[in-house]
Amino acid sequence: MEVSMVCTRVNLLILILSLCSPYKFIQSPMDFGPLNLLPTTTDASSDFGRILFHSPSAVLKPQSPRDISLLLSFLSASSLSKVTVAARGAGHSIHGQAQALDGIVVDMCSLPSEIDLYRGGGEGDISYADVSGGAMWIELLEQSLKLGLAPRSWTDYLYITIGGTLSNAGISGQTFKHGPQISNILQLEVVTARGETVTCSPTKDAELFNAVLGGLGQFGIITRARILLQEAPQKVKWARAFYDDFHTFTKDQELLVSMPDSVDYVEGFIVLNEQSLHGSSIAFPANMAFNPDFGSKSSPKIYYCIELAVHDYQYKNTNVDQVVEAISKQMSHIASHLYSVEVSYFDFLNRVRMEEMSLRSSGLWEVHHPWLNMFVPKAGISDLRDLLMDNISPDNFEGLILIYPLLRDKWGTNTSAVLPDSGSTEQVMFVVGILRSANPDEGCSHDCLQELLHRHRRIADTAGARLGAKQYLAHHPTPAGWHQHFGPRWERFADRKVRFDPLSILGPGQGIFPKGN
Ligand code: FAD
Repeated sequence: MEVSMVCTRVNLLILILSLCSPYKFIQSPMDFGPLNLLPTTTDASSDFGRILFHSPSAVLKPQSPRDISLLLSFLSASSLSKVTVAARGAGHSIHGQAQALDGIVVDMCSLPSEIDLYRGGGEGDISYADVSGGAMWIELLEQSLKLGLAPRSWTDYLYITIGGTLSNAGISGQTFKHGPQISNILQLEVVTARGETVTCSPTKDAELFNAVLGGLGQFGIITRARILLQEAPQKVKWARAFYDDFHTFTKDQELLVSMPDSVDYVEGFIVLNEQSLHGSSIAFPANMAFNPDFGSKSSPKIYYCIELAVHDYQYKNTNVDQVVEAISKQMSHIASHLYSVEVSYFDFLNRVRMEEMSLRSSGLWEVHHPWLNMFVPKAGISDLRDLLMDNISPDNFEGLILIYPLLRDKWGTNTSAVLPDSGSTEQVMFVVGILRSANPDEGCSHDCLQELLHRHRRIADTAGARLGAKQYLAHHPTPAGWHQHFGPRWERFADRKVRFDPLSILGPGQGIFPKGN
């Protein structure tokens, strides 16, 4: 064995003994041979939610997947170990999911970002990218566009990591057509809790592959993913249509997702009051005169907006204006309230970045984010809307409420992702995202934040019990809550934990399998 390896093992043993002792240990960087293990950092004990701040005892900044493997193989072999480990991507979780109280956070973004692209040669020969787990989707977009290619399925925001979104699902307006990001993965490289590096796929070590996709960081650390690519359009026709009736709004969304040959993207949001629309560009291009006036300022009313997009492949010679016009003729939006703009594909996919920059410049990015996301069966979507309106005051809501349809058959049934139970044969379900900001500088500090969290929990619990809704990017305060969340899928999830992480080392921030249980 190399001398450096022996040093690393000795030092890891010291680390574990100190982690298990009541005394504070790593105060400064320690020599762990080739392992870059540092004292805790502010980043590692916080996230986008700014609700929980759990400090780890140490942060591993891996230089290669081998560093992660070394750490985990040592921890899992040590019977002394009470140590937990959380992979942290970009830390855009809400409730401390990537945190590890008194454990070790693995900073995936310190892995070198490697992106290898393969362009298929023709009929049946697919294009794909091999990407490191800590790379961000924006990096993959930038690189793949150089070859005229791009992934098929996205999230709205791209400054998050491949491993982070694949541990959840990864959804956006393309999901109705191509499935979530986890349905677009050909192969993964995973370091298991035992420190083994396994290359898995739907046909090789399929149980690990399926466990890790949507697996909330419980079964292994994704160090590399092979992601399906398609030809990228040059431009996108991006349109918004407005409604004053919820039923008409959701009916039109369902109509759009039944036209995958013409429509490439469908989302939607609630306009809580007309004023809110004027106060924010909601990420429509700033240079566009987007100024709808419904004439309801004196008597506020709630509106709904469908957002759709059609890809413009210039080589195909399709007239996207005509396509959007033909689609809109079948829709029942408020006459004269259809707005559209043509933008580059890159700008369309990266649209939330504009909003981020604007919020950052006014100090509104780094505030509390008590977000709640749910998957709601179609049969319950009107009741869900009423439940939201009973619990949200349009006048003091900062943020966005997204509502858009997904199709159940685009989701595999073997991954760890949780959808509403498929009691009915209904294909359509909706994602509802309450993406709320709470600014301490505007009076929403501790008590106000707790009240919002309490209210969201009440919405989630009621929607779960009455409508069969399931949380996405879920947060449950107790293991019993998780048990209920998984429902009939619990046994498989728990079996996978026993198989791939029997000592419950991984993913402590999710609170699903507390250490010692
Ligand atoms: P982190 O927050 O760092 O980690 C999330 C979880 O994954 C943790 O449990 C962590 O331990 C685990 N994990 C991280 N990396 C790995 C890895 N390599 N291997 C195994 N486990 C790992 N989501 C959507 O689906 N659609 C959206 O449109 C969308 N928009 C968003 C917009 C914004 C502004 C923000 C802040 C979030 C949005 N999200 C969206 C949510 C986002 O997808 C998740 O929060 C995702 O986890 C973020 O990735 P991350 O790299 O920040 O992960």
